[in-house]
Amino acid sequence: MELGTDKCAILHVERGRVANSEGVDLSMPVNLRTLSEAETYRYLGMSQNIGIDETGMKQSVCDVFYARLTKVLNSLLSGVNKAHAYNGWVMPVLMYTFGILRWTQTELNALDRKVRTTMTSHRMHHPRSSDQVIKTNNYRRYILKDGTVDICRACRHPGESLRHVISGCSALSNSEYLQRHNLVARILHQELALKYGLVDRKLPYYKYLPEAVLENDRARLYWDRAIITDRTILANKPDIVLMDRAQSRIFLVDITIPYDENLVKAETDKQTKYLDLAHEVTDMWGGLPTEIIPVVVSANGLIPVSLSGHLRQLGLRGGPLQVQMQKAVLLDTARIVRRFLSLSP
Ligand SMILES: [Zn+2]
Repeated sequence: MELGTDKCAILHVERGRVANSEGVDLSMPVNLRTLSEAETYRYLGMSQNIGIDETGMKQSVCDVFYARLTKVLNSLLSGVNKAHAYNGWVMPVLMYTFGILRWTQTELNALDRKVRTTMTSHRMHHPRSSDQVIKTNNYRRYILKDGTVDICRACRHPGESLRHVISGCSALSNSEYLQRHNLVARILHQELALKYGLVDRKLPYYKYLPEAVLENDRARLYWDRAIITDRTILANKPDIVLMDRAQSRIFLVDITIPYDENLVKAETDKQTKYLDLAHEVTDMWGGLPTEIIPVVVSANGLIPVSLSGHLRQLGLRGGPLQVQMQKAVLLDTARIVRRFLSLSP
């Protein structure tokens, strides 16, 4: 067996200082040379002499870290796999040194900044994206604990949480939430109007303004119109009423944008709400069967599994239409939050 003695060295330390020495002669005719003060040896991946060479180690760790980061970002991996590679292969280079090397906050901040700019230049991190949470009064009171009184800046009721802002604020319900609701109703109305040939040109949904009544030999379509019944019925104004002449059917369509966890309840609520009207309409319009179609998309864009079935009842294909409605709601929820936060707290 041969020892790789050329890789060996000895370090003489006297009272905490590196001392000069002649090396050590082993029994074989080999001389182990002396490690000078400027040189280092590696132990568990760390370059050290008497202590760890902090500056040098930090530099080389950063070099390896950036090299791996750029390699991942330049690869053809998908976004998800890039994140996996980052967590499993890039980040550990740094993690290994935590607790061994003493990183200062300034150094870590500089590192963080560089990672962000690198990611932005590789289109992985939107330049205007913010990793901060949304600063509602509720967040300031309970998370930041900055003494803010948690009262909604718009309706002055206690509890300005994000949930309150996107679907619970009474000051926004007649303006902001109504507009969001109408966007979805307009998407659906236009889709039906096109299907029955009541309009002949498709407009972007935010430009489409539904007519109160559209009619031809195939269908009659009402928009936001109270139905006058013999008996007084309070819930008599569904968003859309469709009478399909060929199928001899009437559909009462109503749209709701509840908070996420109220998804299923919102749907059954709509169904019971219009039950009386459905019976009355059937009686009034020659006994045609009337169906209630609840269309529910949550403020964060969730939809119940039943939605595609409801759209099929209307003779519409779910897929792209559902996506379009979800997208419209999400964009408008984001707009509502932005506008809300621009009000002074
Ligand atoms: Zn409020």
